[in-house]
Order: sequence, then structure tokens, then C-alpha cells
Amino acid sequence: MRPLAVLGGTFDPVHIAHLAVAWEASELLDAEVRLMPASIPPHRPPPVADATSRVAMLRAALRGQDRLGLETRELARGGPSYTVDTLAELRAEERNRPLILLLGADAFTGLPGWHRWRELFEVAHLGVLSRPGMTHDWPAELAREMATRQVGDPRRLHEQPAGKVVELMVTPLEISSTRIRDLLAAGREPRFLLPEALFQDAALLAPYRQDAQAVRAP
Ligand code: ATP
Ligand code: MG
Repeated sequence: MRPLAVLGGTFDPVHIAHLAVAWEASELLDAEVRLMPASIPPHRPPPVADATSRVAMLRAALRGQDRLGLETRELARGGPSYTVDTLAELRAEERNRPLILLLGADAFTGLPGWHRWRELFEVAHLGVLSRPGMTHDWPAELAREMATRQVGDPRRLHEQPAGKVVELMVTPLEISSTRIRDLLAAGREPRFLLPEALFQDAALLAPYRQDAQAVRAP
């Protein structure tokens, strides 16, 4: 069965590297891929844009193609979203379909700090997306987990519902939402780092521009 892969994140805001790596992952894995915004991410400070705005940006960004979808179930749940609970919910709905949690290499390195992280392997496979600046220096407990789970060929994830880890070597794009928020707050116009659609409706990027206006105001 064709796997379902989800790329979780804050998407504050979504940028072209999110879209490019998700797209490449769908090709490498031959999987349906959904971008899944977190409402209150437990591992980081609260997002600048609220959940409704982040979803509006994602919808605008995803328009015009049908390979990447949107998964909003963590927003519906409210409160902190633990990935392990979300994946268990998906597992119950998708029965034996292979599920894949996609993570950038930076997020993957932090995995041992996540709520009930070892249980993730019981409900899903992990697909680790290469990211510029990240090495293969995984923390020891993660390296131990990988020793028995890692496979080289992404197609191996079609063979069972969960439990494997694969590294996906995607085009290196050194773009982050942090950088984009900084540029917008400084009054810059980060065109071509963000999907074009985000510039077509002034309301979409307004949450990030407010700081800059406040600083400039007399
Ligand atoms: P921030 O700077 O706010 O953390 P971000 O650019 O890292 O933003 P997130 O919403 O944190 O975006 O990322 C969602 C997921 O996408 C994470 O798993 C992250 O590792 C991955 N990701 C984000 N940008 C890239 C990139 N340039 N290359 C590979 N993976 C990425
Ligand atoms: Mg991040």
C-alpha cells in the first residue's frame, strides 16, 4: 500500500524549502505527503502567527498542485500536540498502511527529548530529511535505535507499517522560518524564499511585519 507521510512543524511561516523537501520526499518514498502544522508545539516557544494564519499560509502555498496535502488534525485537538498521539490516531484510521513521520535532521537530533519518543517507532517509520549544517552526529541513544532500524532503500518502508528509519538525501536549501521572520521584522521583502502566493494577500504576512512597524513608529 502507498505510504502516508506527514511533515510536522510550526510553519511559521511555510517557506519554499518545506515545500521542496516534502515534494522530494514524496518522490523518493513514493508516498502521499501531508504538511501538518502543530497548534502549540511542546518543544519550542509559541509561534508568532496564530494557527489560523499559519493554515491560511499553508493553503495558499499548496494551491495549484495535488501531490502535497494538508493535515490539520493537531489544530482541531487544541492544547500541546504530542506527535506520538497524533500518529496513534492516524494509525487507528489507516489500519495497516505504512505511516512515515518526516523530520528534518535538526528535529531528528532532538528526538530523545520528545514525549514517549521510543513509541514513535511502534506506530510509524521515520524519514530523516537532510538539512544544511546538520551532520550525522546523532545522540547515542538515537544511534542505538538506528542500528537496528535503519534501511538504505526508501522503498523498504512499503513492506511493513512502522519501525524503520531511512535517511532521505534532499536538495540542500539553507532556508529557515527564523531567517524569514527576521527579514520580515526588519522590513525586508523575502521574495522567492517564500511561495509567491504569500505575497499576493497582504494579510498573510502581516503577523511578522507588526514588530517592524512598532519599531518604526514614533
Ligand atoms: P524555525 O526556524 O522557526 O524552526 P524551520 O524552517 O525549521 O523554522 P519548522 O516549521 O521548524 O521550520 O520545520 C518543520 C520541519 O521541516 C522540521 O522537521 C524541519 O527540520 C524541516 N525543515 C525546515 N526547513 C528545512 C530545510 N531547509 N531543509 C530540510 N528540512 C527542513
Ligand atoms: Mg525548525
